[in-house]
Amino acid sequence: MRSNSRKKLPEFPIPEILASQETTSALGDIVEHVDKNAINPNIYKGQFKDSATKKDRFLVRERLKGIYYNKCAYCEDIQNKPEVEHYRPKKKLSEDRNHPGYYWLCYEWTNLLPACHYCNTDKGKRNQFPIRGIRVNAPPRLPDGSWNQSANDASVSPLIDEEPYLLHPEVDQPDDGSYFKFHNTGVMEGIDPKGRGKKTIEICDLNREDLIDRRREKISNILELIRCFSALWSEGHLTVDDFKAALESMVFEKMLKMQQPDQPFSLLAIYIFEHFNEIIVPELPTPTQGKAVSAVFTNFRKRFKYYKNIKYLLK
Ligand SMILES: [Zn+2]
Repeated sequence: MRSNSRKKLPEFPIPEILASQETTSALGDIVEHVDKNAINPNIYKGQFKDSATKKDRFLVRERLKGIYYNKCAYCEDIQNKPEVEHYRPKKKLSEDRNHPGYYWLCYEWTNLLPACHYCNTDKGKRNQFPIRGIRVNAPPRLPDGSWNQSANDASVSPLIDEEPYLLHPEVDQPDDGSYFKFHNTGVMEGIDPKGRGKKTIEICDLNREDLIDRRREKISNILELIRCFSALWSEGHLTVDDFKAALESMVFEKMLKMQQPDQPFSLLAIYIFEHFNEIIVPELPTPTQGKAVSAVFTNFRKRFKYYKNIKYLLK
């Protein structure tokens, strides 16, 4: 999961279908009558018939895909047709059978995320939404009793006060290094003291077998290349300068590209870069090779101190 912000992406504004008069009015009725059966999936998916092509379009999904670089907001796998997922479940909660679900957020833009089928359903999230704070049980009201729709944003009170366990890519900073650790095996581990990373992994089943396998493969591919160049250098087939040049241009620059937000599993790539000496170096066959590779990497990293801003690498 990578940090994101749709508010900083004016090219992907709130879809017209969510902000329309008709939707606002229909939502008002749902809230007033607690009528969850009236929730219309065509609205939160943004489904409409394109008059030019006569084909169905899914505007909400298209916007979410743009914001999330065609990736699942939770597992970062590439998704051509992600599901429009409600961060806060709209109809019921696994944790509290008496809670009606966050039905008033059914068309709320900040409550919608693109998710793959596995993270959203299957053994993944479904209707889970555990919290640490006090659960919001009903739509927020103004002093005159009317519904306060402006308090529906996931990043403001009262929703922010619930302290959800599940990280939100746009409310939290899931890639700041404080929530997740990755192992060489491809397994993810939650590391923050509040247990949000751990719970997020559990809720979305982020340690499912195929994700572990693919993350492990990414680590192995890097390792294989480094081992190959290290062996050539050790055996005298590469000079020190050629060894350095090969590592930098064919491995470390590739590792920078893997961190770009449009790349699948880019959080893992950030982790590998930030923890190179823990996750890669010990896997090299000899301490001499480990020391040499570590020295080249440290030097590369110093030069690319501001690597996160290097745009040219994507060109
Ligand atoms: Zn996913």
